[in-house]
Amino acid sequence: MEEVASSETFSPQIHVQGFVDEAIKTLDVSDLYSKREILKSVTYAEAMNVSIETVDELKSVCSTQTLKCSLEDIDRDAAEVPTGTELVTLGLRKRYLDSKPNINKNCKFTVLSWNQEHAYHNVKPPPEREVKPQCAVLQVAVFHPTKRTMRRRPGSRMRVAQEYRVLGYQKLTDLRDAITCIADHAIAGEYSERPCNVPDIRAKDIYKSAYFFIENVFYNDLRFEDSRDLSREVREWKQNKHEGKGSYTTKNMEDVKFNDLHIRLGYPYLYCHQGNCEHLIIFKDLRMFHTDDCRDEGLYPLMVDRYRFRRQMCRVCSTFTAKWVTYDDQLAEESPCFFCDLCFKALHYSKDLTKLAEFEAYPYVDMGIFNLATA
Ligand SMILES: [Zn+2]
Ligand SMILES: [Zn+2]
Repeated sequence: MEEVASSETFSPQIHVQGFVDEAIKTLDVSDLYSKREILKSVTYAEAMNVSIETVDELKSVCSTQTLKCSLEDIDRDAAEVPTGTELVTLGLRKRYLDSKPNINKNCKFTVLSWNQEHAYHNVKPPPEREVKPQCAVLQVAVFHPTKRTMRRRPGSRMRVAQEYRVLGYQKLTDLRDAITCIADHAIAGEYSERPCNVPDIRAKDIYKSAYFFIENVFYNDLRFEDSRDLSREVREWKQNKHEGKGSYTTKNMEDVKFNDLHIRLGYPYLYCHQGNCEHLIIFKDLRMFHTDDCRDEGLYPLMVDRYRFRRQMCRVCSTFTAKWVTYDDQLAEESPCFFCDLCFKALHYSKDLTKLAEFEAYPYVDMGIFNLATA
């Protein structure tokens, strides 16, 4: 970890609850939850030592309303593209919007890539689901997993897979359950001999263990009876290497809230699941909850951004998303090779489902499924 972070890129260690206590002591807490009152002209006049008339004139001259032209006063619906326009771009936009019913037409992005925080800006939850007052909000970036065997090319960037906002009083397990990774959805096993008998059992249903590694503490997810302590091997290695000095400690993930953590903003920590699927996580921000935040506690951890995955298409028809991946396939030009269900069976099997060549076949779960999931 020390190798990938220089001391200029992260903050000193902060105790989250300590930060909240300090903020409550220092700040006017009422200011955090109510819309800031618009100061009256008389207050400005006193502060600037000018007359009230001058302040009023300044207000009207500097108003954002003066930036508009007269046509903008007409109340328009941004989703409506005017017909009969000579502007080609507007015509193309209309055609595009008409062909995609799932698009949020008031913004220029699709719903999938629309920054989720805006979607929940004005949510009014029932009183029992209101976010508790005086709490911390942390912004956490979860990166794509890195393969230990894969050497990163110089200059290649690590990409953020998802970004969440969590509340200080939420447990680490809340974030663990929110993080989506294709490794959790994979179906284990080789099925070339029985392609019609693929069970719908995902890796997350079998391998439920996981941990966060934050400031030399392993937070293990041991909520289920069959969960394992994935951190044990690393801790034993550390103990043997340093003869017991500076060994790591463990805690149960479900017993720890974000308020209990000591964190460094910008410092890379680790989320590990499915045995060795390792994601860097970074706390990007720590602040108090304020009036512009989503107030519905049930929507946290709130996904505020995510990576848009490209679909892996079938290499035969290039029309459907891949459902199978084959290795050492006599009928394919490459290994691995991707197929949709239709092309896979048509190419590799006879009518009575007899295998026509030598190959290994595994069910393939496309990362594009995360594009369709709603946060
Ligand atoms: Zn993963
Ligand atoms: Zn196909």
